[in-house]
Amino acid sequence: MLKEVILISREKIEELAELIKTSRNIVVFTGAGVSTESGVPDFRSPGGIWDRFDPNEMTFQKFVSSEESRRKYWDLFRTTYKEFQGIEPNQAHLAIAELEKRDKLSAVVTQNVEELHQKAGNSPGKVLELHGTMWKIRCLDCETDYPWEEAYKLLEQGEIPGNCPQCGGLFKPATIAFGQQLPVRTLKEAQARSCSSDLFISIGSSLVVYPAALMPQMAKESGSALVIINREPTPFDDIADLVIHAQAGETMKKTVELAE
Ligand SMILES: [Zn+2]
Repeated sequence: MLKEVILISREKIEELAELIKTSRNIVVFTGAGVSTESGVPDFRSPGGIWDRFDPNEMTFQKFVSSEESRRKYWDLFRTTYKEFQGIEPNQAHLAIAELEKRDKLSAVVTQNVEELHQKAGNSPGKVLELHGTMWKIRCLDCETDYPWEEAYKLLEQGEIPGNCPQCGGLFKPATIAFGQQLPVRTLKEAQARSCSSDLFISIGSSLVVYPAALMPQMAKESGSALVIINREPTPFDDIADLVIHAQAGETMKKTVELAE
């Protein structure tokens, strides 16, 4: 870990800082790599969520079609509610929030569901959650949101949330399940902001999940500068103006300090 921190090139930090200084309409795109630096458990690691729950059982189709599947799904959320409590924003989240304070941020488009951008200080209207949020439950029919705490209380008593008092629809955590459509309005807004940005910074995403991964490409084609910060190479490194293979937190903290 220490080695990687040392290896962040000063030149690249300066280059990114310069891009930030001269931009007024930045879109930041964040993936799991930003969350893991806050200690958010990695679902795919050994002993992680997908070792304990079968992802094939957790599809949207199964959720809506059987109560048994819904019980399994809610049990997964009971576990994640426990594991995600007390998680705090890291330096990357704070640096991104700082961009909003400096009036340079058009939007944060995120694949993450734990609301750490809002907790770091980004206003909710600036955060476009492509995969929803785990801290709300939502009626699948009328889309009314309810706090997760009520669901959690029921789950701890061995029950699952019932039906929506407004319309009788099914409650589901407000995240996007496998096989569930991404929120159309959010996706369109994210694409529009990406296309009108002058700088698009992708942080901590392997950029392989579509349609989210299309956004850096759309931004670049619309004339935005494209920067990719990720520990591993991504399929878009070749078209990026700047690629930094390093940790998100350290890179963003140093850059935003320098761009002041
Ligand atoms: Zn409803």
